[in-house]
Amino acid sequence: MVITFDDGYADSLSAMRPLCERFDIPATVFVTAGYLDGQREFWWDDLEAQTLGRGVTAMRDLELEVNGERLMWPAGTSLRAIYDALHVRLRPSTAETRDQVLNDLAHWQGARRGVREDHRPLTESECHQLAASRRVDVQSHTVHHLWLAAHPAPVQAYELRESRRRLAEITGRPITALAYPYGFRDAVAPGTLALAREAGYSAACATVRGQVVRAADPLWLPRYVPGDVDGEGLLCRLNGFFDDFAAPHPPRGGAVRDTREVNAKELT
Ligand SMILES: [Zn+2]
Repeated sequence: MVITFDDGYADSLSAMRPLCERFDIPATVFVTAGYLDGQREFWWDDLEAQTLGRGVTAMRDLELEVNGERLMWPAGTSLRAIYDALHVRLRPSTAETRDQVLNDLAHWQGARRGVREDHRPLTESECHQLAASRRVDVQSHTVHHLWLAAHPAPVQAYELRESRRRLAEITGRPITALAYPYGFRDAVAPGTLALAREAGYSAACATVRGQVVRAADPLWLPRYVPGDVDGEGLLCRLNGFFDDFAAPHPPRGGAVRDTREVNAKELT
């Protein structure tokens, strides 16, 4: 069994690493290399904080341009509607567009984009410390966490290669494994797996549910995603996963009924 954590939150070091070492459990953290500067939250957390967070109000009209589309919300619009409209548009956007929109939102609120301690990504130095653990391995989750399928091949190739380079430099260790951002089948383009191979990865994880069987493509490894749940919820999900293992015909990497719903909600 292989345990993995995506994105590279700071609590990978403060909470997860001590547990892995205490119980002697090996784990891999897939780190988003472009978020290690300590300056910002992951885009989905930042968006959530700036639309649904404490103190946010829709007292003023909001007007934004996202990928050439002009969006307008009059004062009093539901913040949830604004969040939903922006989330769906920012997910396939470039890193620059996301940054621009998040800056515009901060301006709308007359606030600054903050970095909350309990939501922040690892810093470079923390990433280095994490990789020095005898139980935790750091691998790649690209540079900007893009929806790769929405971007041309050279951009995808850059995300795959550059994250390997940066993380190898930070950790002093070879980077050979990848987790695709989001990990859904439609989040990667038909050529993405070949680009991952060319970039030097020998294994890559998706988030489609399933066991790794002998015939599995090493560049499209299924996983079981428990999502963001409490201890009791995790136990419940794990029991569901183990039922799969016991089944006479376990799923072979294809998404099963409720996985998509879990992923869409909890993996942003
Ligand atoms: Zn991710």
